[in-house]
Amino acid sequence: MSRRPLAWKSLGRLGLCAGVLAPGGPAFAIDVELCARYAVDYADADAAVGDDYLTDNDEVLASGVRIQVVRNSDSAIVFDGNADDGGADDGCVAVTGLTTTNYSVRVLSTAEVAGNTLKVWNNDSSNVLHAWVDPFWVPPLGGGTETFTTSLGDPWRILATATHAMHRSDAGLSGENLVFYTQECSGGGSCLGGNGRVYLCPSATCSNNPHNKTLVGHEMGHLVFFLGNGKDFTSFSYAYTPGTSDSDGGSGHRINSEEYQGAAANEGIAHFWAAFAFNDDTESDCGFDYYASSVDWDYDSFGEEDQISCEGAPDSSGAPTVDGADYHGDVCGGTADKGVEYDWLRLGWDLVSDESIPMEDIVDIWDLADPDAWNTNGSGVAEAMSDAADTVGWGAEYDYWADFNGTDR
Ligand SMILES: [Zn+2]
Repeated sequence: MSRRPLAWKSLGRLGLCAGVLAPGGPAFAIDVELCARYAVDYADADAAVGDDYLTDNDEVLASGVRIQVVRNSDSAIVFDGNADDGGADDGCVAVTGLTTTNYSVRVLSTAEVAGNTLKVWNNDSSNVLHAWVDPFWVPPLGGGTETFTTSLGDPWRILATATHAMHRSDAGLSGENLVFYTQECSGGGSCLGGNGRVYLCPSATCSNNPHNKTLVGHEMGHLVFFLGNGKDFTSFSYAYTPGTSDSDGGSGHRINSEEYQGAAANEGIAHFWAAFAFNDDTESDCGFDYYASSVDWDYDSFGEEDQISCEGAPDSSGAPTVDGADYHGDVCGGTADKGVEYDWLRLGWDLVSDESIPMEDIVDIWDLADPDAWNTNGSGVAEAMSDAADTVGWGAEYDYWADFNGTDR
């Protein structure tokens, strides 16, 4: 007879830990399934947007997240591993061999998702993961499942969105590190930095912040297409200033501003990644909450709706002059080598929803179009994308929707 039943009984009577009663090895082990979830509070998780995923602020399963269990008595890390990424135990991991002492449970801001690693680091000088900690946890004697939910915070808002997006598509990426900082860009706001890592301006600093899942998705889109292009940045310029009053006056890029084609494509493809993350591409409808307070779609100096469609028109009542295609031609004059982010967003959505082109093929088209070699004045961008689509095998489909959406100039 093993000693385990004796130790178990003694424990109950004496209230001492089993390890004390059974020197030389664990007297009995407690096996527990630990599950983690993210608390989220997205401002744009709203049924009015018309998208399909992360549409409420229910807790999000922490798929693939890294969990640590630390024994408080001696600070030994007794478990360090990642939760399952999908399946019946999505966001959970089996932890065995615990005893009736107390532990700290840490949920760390990194996850293994769809063959890639997502990391949220504090800042680019110390590069440290964030941690949510339950400082005093005693495993239940009978084992079972214990669920830990993070507090609300930017790291978890970012990781929940990035995890979800990576589940929607791995974009053909494998074994990549996708790093996000809870830090403002050196130039302000949020961006893909020159180090190939995303900077998301903290909610304490910027009004556009990780409370917006669409902003997180957009910046992640820049990162995904950067990685998909062999870690090369797009060559583009925001410096185009339209000469007419009917489009953006050159104060940086907006979703409906006329820009050099490379800039419009680079921003529009990032919008498209966010739209794809939150919309079911087996349905043609597509809701998108642009992270601005409003958009002056008809350039009458009054802002209209920023919750828009990436399939049809932005808003039929607020912007009657804008229809479901070619905003650049309809509103901005359709100048050669120029374009509008919104048209690129709608192009991407048409390619996946109407033509069922896989996201990784879109990334391949981007890669083959060689965005790092584009002229910053936008010349040749439309042709490079069309030629690349032809090479990937979607030439006819691409050209049809590029013409339809007006991204072919
Ligand atoms: Zn951007």
